[in-house]
Amino acid sequence: LRDADTPVDETELAIEGALRPASLSEFVGQQKVRGQLQLLLEAARIQQRPADHILLSGPPGLGKTTLAMIVAHESGRPLRLSSGPAIQHAGDLAALLSSLTPGEVLFIDEVHRMARSAEEMLYLAMEDFRIDIMVGKGAGATSIPLDLAPFTLVGATTRSGLLPNPLRDRFGFTAHLEYYEAEELEHVLERSARMLGVELPPAARAEIARRSRGTPRIANRLLRRVRDYLIVHADGAASTAAVDAALDLYDVDRIGLDRLDRAVLEALVRRFRGGPVGLSTLSVAVGEEAETIESVVEPYLVRIGFMGRTPRGRVATPEAYAHLGVPHADSVLR
Ligand code: ATP
Repeated sequence: LRDADTPVDETELAIEGALRPASLSEFVGQQKVRGQLQLLLEAARIQQRPADHILLSGPPGLGKTTLAMIVAHESGRPLRLSSGPAIQHAGDLAALLSSLTPGEVLFIDEVHRMARSAEEMLYLAMEDFRIDIMVGKGAGATSIPLDLAPFTLVGATTRSGLLPNPLRDRFGFTAHLEYYEAEELEHVLERSARMLGVELPPAARAEIARRSRGTPRIANRLLRRVRDYLIVHADGAASTAAVDAALDLYDVDRIGLDRLDRAVLEALVRRFRGGPVGLSTLSVAVGEEAETIESVVEPYLVRIGFMGRTPRGRVATPEAYAHLGVPHADSVLR
C-alpha cells in the first residue's frame, strides 16, 4: 500500500533513499524495538546463524523498509526486496526463495497481500527452509521437495490483523511501530536538514515536526517542500513564516492533517452527524479505498483522539468538532 506521501518521482525517491539511516544507532526513536532488534541480531551474530524471522507492523512511513535494510546491513548480509502484490502465485515465491544465497535477508513489504497458495509455501520455507514444488496436475501431480539456503524473512504489514495465524506464528519476533513523538521527528529533521544542506532553526524544525503526522517520511517530505520554498524565495534559513507559507500551500494544516484526513473528518462530522458510521459507507462518501482509510487515515485520527471506533462504526469526538470549527451540541460519543 503506497500512501499519498510515498514519493513516485525518481529524484524524490533517490533523496528518500539517501536520507535513510543505515544503522540502528542512527535510527531515531522506537527505542524498545531497537533494543529488541539489537539483541536478536547480536545473538545471531555470536552463533553465526541467520537471525530469526521478523515481522514489522504499523502505518506507512514509520520505517519498516529502513529497518529491514538495517537488519541486512548490521548482520553483514545481502538484502532482497519484494512485496506481497508481486507474489501472486506460489511459483513466484518458489523462484524467489530458491534463488536466495545462504543467510540472505528477504524483505517482503505488504506481506498480507501475498497469494494464499504462496502463503502456505512460505510456512514450510520459514520453518524448515524447504519447499514442496508441485509438478503436473490432477491425479498425476507429484510434489518435489527442494532444500533452501537458510534466510531471514523480514515481513512488513500495515494490517497485521489480516495475516493468517499460522504465518504470524512463524515470525520469531514481531514489532509494532508506533507514531513518533514530535521531539523524535525533530531529530529526524535535524539529521535530514544537515544532509540536504538546509538551514533549519529550532523553531522552524519544531513547526515542521508538529505538522508531520507522527511520521518520519512525512517530516522528510515537508522538509523538501520547505527547501523548495527557500530556493525559490532565495531565503537563507527557514523561518517559521517560511515553513507556514510552504506547508499551507500543500494543504497540510496546523496539526499536520492532510486533505484526505480532513475529508474523512468532514464527512464523519457534517454528513453523518458524528457517526457511528461503517467503514465502507465512509469510504464511498470520500471516494477513497476502504483499506487506505483503515490503514493510513484512521490510525492517526484515533491516536490524536479525533475518532473513536465502536462496534457500531466510527464516531467523531468533540475534539474533532472543535478542530473543524463545528459546534458539537449534537455530538454525543455513542
Ligand atoms: P511503507 O509502509 O511505505 O513501506 P515504511 O514504514 O517502510 O513505509 P520507510 O520507507 O522505511 O517507511 O521510511 C520512510 C522514510 O522515513 C525514509 O526516507 C527514512 O529515511 C525515514 N525514516 C523512517 N524511520 C526513520 C527513523 N526512525 N529515523 C530516521 N529516519 C527515518
